[in-house]
Amino acid sequence: VIMMGQPEHSVVTTCAYCGVGCAFKADMKGQEVVRMVPWKDGKANRGHSCVKGRFAWGYATHKDRVLKPMIREKITDPWREVSWEEAIGYAASQIRRIQNQYGRDSVGGITSSRCTNEETYLVQKLVRAAFGTNNVDTCARVCHSPTGYGLKTTLGESAGTQTFDSVMHTDVVIVMGANPSAAHPVFASRLKSRLRQGAKLIVIDPRTIELVSSPHIKADYHLPVRPGTNTALLTSMAHVIATENLIDEAFVAERCETKAFNEWREFVSRPENSPEAMAEITGVNANDLRGAARLFATHGNGSIYYGLGVTEHSQGSTTVMAIANLAMATGNIGREGVGVNPLRGQNNVQGSCDMGSFPHELPGYRHVSDNAVRQQFEQAWGVTIQPEPGLRIPNMFDAALSGSFKALYCQGEDIVQSDPNTQHVTAALSAMECIIVQDIFLNETAKYAHVFLPGSSFLEKDGTFTNAERRISRVRQVMEPQAGLADWEATCALSNALGYPMNYKHPSEIMDEIASLTPTFTGVSFKRIDELGGSVQWPCNEDAPEGTPIMHIDQFVRGKGKFVITQYVPSDERSTRKFPLLLTTGRILSQYNVGAQTRRTDNVLWHHEDVLEIHPHDAEERGISMGDWVAVQSRSGETALRAEITDRVQPGVVYTTFHHPESGANVVTTDSSDWATDCPEYKVTAVQVRRVTQP
Ligand code: SF4
Repeated sequence: VIMMGQPEHSVVTTCAYCGVGCAFKADMKGQEVVRMVPWKDGKANRGHSCVKGRFAWGYATHKDRVLKPMIREKITDPWREVSWEEAIGYAASQIRRIQNQYGRDSVGGITSSRCTNEETYLVQKLVRAAFGTNNVDTCARVCHSPTGYGLKTTLGESAGTQTFDSVMHTDVVIVMGANPSAAHPVFASRLKSRLRQGAKLIVIDPRTIELVSSPHIKADYHLPVRPGTNTALLTSMAHVIATENLIDEAFVAERCETKAFNEWREFVSRPENSPEAMAEITGVNANDLRGAARLFATHGNGSIYYGLGVTEHSQGSTTVMAIANLAMATGNIGREGVGVNPLRGQNNVQGSCDMGSFPHELPGYRHVSDNAVRQQFEQAWGVTIQPEPGLRIPNMFDAALSGSFKALYCQGEDIVQSDPNTQHVTAALSAMECIIVQDIFLNETAKYAHVFLPGSSFLEKDGTFTNAERRISRVRQVMEPQAGLADWEATCALSNALGYPMNYKHPSEIMDEIASLTPTFTGVSFKRIDELGGSVQWPCNEDAPEGTPIMHIDQFVRGKGKFVITQYVPSDERSTRKFPLLLTTGRILSQYNVGAQTRRTDNVLWHHEDVLEIHPHDAEERGISMGDWVAVQSRSGETALRAEITDRVQPGVVYTTFHHPESGANVVTTDSSDWATDCPEYKVTAVQVRRVTQP
């Protein structure tokens, strides 16, 4: 697969897997990729890569690709291959029929973090301008929506504060609810270099991840927090910092809102928030927690990197705000080596959020209820935009089940495999009258679809992705769209068929429109990105023509930083007599999310099934031996996996990955979600586990 001959030419583009956004040189022979070489001038990766970007690109030409549009009236009918014209015409007629029958807001769309900024922008524009509704949402709903809410509330911008290079200036790092060695490997290498130079490390994770104890790295503190209690843990860290006079008073006085800070200080200082009082809840030794808090507050530049183990909780947004509180209280914002750094999962999840994919926000995180902002878009687009937010993904499912939501355009997102409580999702999809899936494979969601539009892989795309450090990087077309149309062209065709004209000649024109309507993208164009060496970090505007590696330097985007009280509220998912274990989930290095791509490459040889990690004590109690099949049952459902007995997990906690559809991790996850954003609580599910014969 990897070596198919000598290259004739090369194209520099961006990896389509994780939020690091590594640049690659695709060495080509005609339309065939010979190999992918990490690009030495890529600013996010500097010539490094991991096994996914380097080797797992063969899915783009896999035999499972569906290259013809298809339609069917009922999901029990066989698919019928049709022309693009017929498929688009049928989809448009169904959308309009449903809107005429059930109302304008009976339809909606889901954008994809696997697509470019330009493609994502067009889908939300299609939904708002051609469908006439704000019912648009993104897969960030199920991963980093709490980051958007939490960082906007406290700091004023829904994005990480630093550049990846910043980690080389840090003195003490908190890694919380993230496993960079598996999920963000190129960043992990840079972090490890800094740790080898002597920076201190605090890992907050229920599981003993590789960073806790790898051959050359030992964490100074591992706080094995009980799933669902992150907010309690961070509040007790703040208690130590506040009560032991470790607050950076000068920073807080100059940069933060005084009243909110005083209220926060009074709250965290209460005895009930001490590490000793919280130890029963968090499961973390109070002395360790005190030691970690002191280290973070006193050891120079402190930085915090976090992942979905923070956001995918019923208190995800609260925990993000607790992280921001901690950074502000210790003066660790606004210079190199510090900051709040969400490690974004998907290649363009930052971009899909930036592009207005949320039902309440237009591009650039501006609320649809803001008259001036709405008028700007109305003038540019020539339509009226609804002033009320539309439906979030879970609300779309609920509305489908109550009969008021009937049609969905879903681009590049397998909601059946990705979203929690699979039974609920499939019931909702079954209740709709028209589902349009645009994807490169017939995924699990397509089983419920009436129209299938072939999507294009990253090798066929022309546009930009935005990584976890706000870096907008060029994605260059390596081969022609295999199905004849690029994703953006299909979206334009659908819009035109609906009677709302979209006539872009090239994705660069879409970026020009984005830049003209989005203040943080004011100076961005394909030409400018090329002039700057292939990427630029937003905000990019008159004040920062070469982009902004580090945010909030002199003042926060919102003016003064805002402390928020982070009261711990227990999750509904607690261990009980019937469901005594807590299931949490994660990823491994060679596979990616639902595995739609990596399972169709040689990477599958390195990981061909998801297993359940269980502590020896819990396994013995249940008579489970290594490799036994076990049933995992929750309030939502039951699935079966093979057991791996390991002390990587604590007693009372079990863990699995979710890369293979047959393991059905989301059959057992529940409907619990973040109070502010509805991000599902994937990371805590109360389960029982028992040995079974092979299913
Ligand atoms: Fe880089 Fe992430 Fe792609 Fe690996 S998966 S090559 S770390 S962007």
